[in-house]
Amino acid sequence: MSLSPPIFLKEREENNSRFVEIQQPQTTSTAAEDPLQNLCLASQEVLQKAQQSGRSKCLKCGGSRMFYCYTCYVPVENVPTEQMPLVKLPLKIDIIKHPNETDGKSTAIHAKLLAPEFVNIYTYPCIPEYEEEDHEVALIFPGPKSVSIKDISFHLQKRIQNNVRGKNGDPDKPSSKRKKTEEQDLNDSKYKETTLKKIIFIDSTWNQTNKIFTDERLQGLLQVELKTRKTCFWRHQKGKPDTFLSTIEAIYYFLVDYHTDILKEKYKGQYDNLLFFYSFMYQLIKNAKCSGDKETRKITH
Ligand SMILES: [Zn+2]
Repeated sequence: MSLSPPIFLKEREENNSRFVEIQQPQTTSTAAEDPLQNLCLASQEVLQKAQQSGRSKCLKCGGSRMFYCYTCYVPVENVPTEQMPLVKLPLKIDIIKHPNETDGKSTAIHAKLLAPEFVNIYTYPCIPEYEEEDHEVALIFPGPKSVSIKDISFHLQKRIQNNVRGKNGDPDKPSSKRKKTEEQDLNDSKYKETTLKKIIFIDSTWNQTNKIFTDERLQGLLQVELKTRKTCFWRHQKGKPDTFLSTIEAIYYFLVDYHTDILKEKYKGQYDNLLFFYSFMYQLIKNAKCSGDKETRKITH
């Protein structure tokens, strides 16, 4: 089996132009074919070495794994944490996975490994109650009611206003003092900008997703749809269009858009390392496919 070449670390200028290409994938065929090629990534040498030496031990459960343990959410012995990038995120992420989803196939774990402080994974039906925080949470899901990323703040503000009205309409708690404070909060521009605190992703095959999505604990939440992008996922689901992203791709693309559309900052590759494992595994599979290697599946999990 041929070993993948390192993903090249491009200069910042190139990275910015790559971002433009991803936004409009039709403009350049190379970027459309392989949007992972110009990512701003930490050195993947540690993954190359780990891949050469084969499976290693999970220091928590002792299981034999490649790169990381998908049950303990930690890297294996021959992938030291200090050689992995640590990604800072602008908000918290909850990932709800279907109990039948094979853990080894999930890319959601990549997010937990690379941004452990910001990411929590829950196994359905054990999920948090979001009712109290429904004005600062969004479910990333392409449903009939879903809105675009740039409209998130507007819709969450509407929820805050409705909540205030709802409370004032309650004859048992007619607190004018409280009303005033909440209205002041609404007028505070800083408060407006930081409305969204947490995003939720459903991690399962698309056929299983519906059961989780229709759970009443998630139904009341603001639903947000991503811009159309093509997946690079090697476990592309049969019968589904190539715009159905893997979970880590969806998280990554959400954050890139959030950065430019909501934080109004220029994207300089800040979240590219979320694809540290993904891009490496993608290259391995791609190279193996090119060389006609039938042992492809053994490369990963
Ligand atoms: Zn383990």
